[in-house]
Amino acid sequence: MRSLDDFATEKLASLEQAHLRRAMAETFREDGIWTERDGRRLLSFSCNDYLNLSQHPAVKTAAIAAIEEYGAGSGASRLVTGNHPLYAELEGRLAKLKETEAACVFGSGYLANAGIIPVLIGEDGLVLIDELSHACLWAGAQLSRGRVESFRHNDIGHLESLLKAHRGEHSRALIATDGVFSMDGDLAPLGELATLAQNYDAWLMSDDAHGLGVLGSGRGSSFVGNAHVDIPLQMGTLSKAIGGYGGYLCASQAVIELMHNRARTLIYSTGLPPAIVAAAIASLDVIESEIELPGKPIAKAKAFTRLTGLPEAQSQIVPVVLGDAETALNASRLLADEGFLVAAIRPPTVPEGTARLRLAFTAGHPDAEIERLAQVVRTRILLH
Ligand SMILES: *Cc1c(COP(=O)(O)O)cnc(C)c1O
Repeated sequence: MRSLDDFATEKLASLEQAHLRRAMAETFREDGIWTERDGRRLLSFSCNDYLNLSQHPAVKTAAIAAIEEYGAGSGASRLVTGNHPLYAELEGRLAKLKETEAACVFGSGYLANAGIIPVLIGEDGLVLIDELSHACLWAGAQLSRGRVESFRHNDIGHLESLLKAHRGEHSRALIATDGVFSMDGDLAPLGELATLAQNYDAWLMSDDAHGLGVLGSGRGSSFVGNAHVDIPLQMGTLSKAIGGYGGYLCASQAVIELMHNRARTLIYSTGLPPAIVAAAIASLDVIESEIELPGKPIAKAKAFTRLTGLPEAQSQIVPVVLGDAETALNASRLLADEGFLVAAIRPPTVPEGTARLRLAFTAGHPDAEIERLAQVVRTRILLH
C-alpha cells in the first residue's frame, strides 16, 4: 500500500530529524558482560542481567533438562494445558521469597502489568501512578479504563492531595509505582506509600523489576533496611536479575485466584516455555545460596559514583543526564570507541530534555574496567 509506506517513511524522517530514530544493533552476548557489536568487543553496561545469571552454567543446564523432559513449548494457555509442573514450584518459591500467600507467573513483566490492573480497577475506579513509572505500568492503568492521575515523582505530599481530592469519588483505588525506577535508579518511599495507602483504603502495587535479586539481599525493594514493608500487590519480572523471561505477581490467595479467572494477558496468552520456568527456579537457587551475590551490583555502582563525583548510587542503575538526544548519542559513541557499551536513553523513554546515559552495573564487572569507565565519563563527558 502506497499510503501506508508513505506514512511510515514520513514518520521515520521526522524521528531522524529530532535524533530520535532508533535501530536495533545485532549484539552477540558472549557471557554476562562482554558483547560483540559491529566486529567490536565491548564491555556492556546496558544489560539488565544484573547477576549475569542468563549465562550461569546451572541455569543453562536446568533449562536444557526441562526441554528434554517437557519439550520446547507449553502448547496452550495455562488454563488449558500449558500449566506444566514447573509452574507450581516457581510460584511457591516466589511467594515464599516475597512473604505472600501466593504468586502468579505471567508471560512477561509487561504482560503482568497490562493484565493485573484492569482486573482490579474498572471504569469507576481510580489509579494514582508515579509519573516516572515504567511504560507498562502506565499501559495497565490506561487499559483499566478507570480515572488515571499521576503524582509527581516520589512526592508523597502530592499523592496525599490527590487522594484527599478524589478518593471519595471512587469505589476502589490503586497506587502504582516502580520500586526501583528503571531510568533513574532511585527508590520509591515504599514505607510512606504503604501508610498513605492504608489511611485512604487504596491498594498499593509495586513494580520491582529492578529490585528482585539485587536489593534487600535479593528479595527486592520492600525488604531494604530493617522493616519489611507490607505491600499487597508485588509485581516483578524474571527477565532482569533472574536472567530469563517472564513476569509475576505476589499477592494473597484470593487475589491470585482472581487473576487466574480474569487477567486477560494470562488467560489469552500461551504459557511460558518449560525451559524458561526451570531457568528461573535455578536462578533463585543461585541467589539464595550465594548470599554475597545480590549485593555486588550496588557495590560496583557506588564505586563508580564515588570515582566520578556523581550523587551516590541508590541501586545498580546510575543515570548520567545530559539533556538533548544528540549529546547523549555522542556520549554513547565516545564510550563505544573506548570499549564500553552504554546505550543512550532518549524521549519518550525519559522526559523531554533529560536524555541520558543509563549505566547498569552487574556482579561480574571487573573493578579495573569500572575505574577506567569512571575516568572517561568524568574527564570526557561530565567536564565537557
Ligand atoms: C523491564 C521492566 C518491565 C517489563 O518487564 P519484562 O519482563 O521485560 O516485560 C516492567 N517494569 C519495569 C519497571 C521494567 O523496568
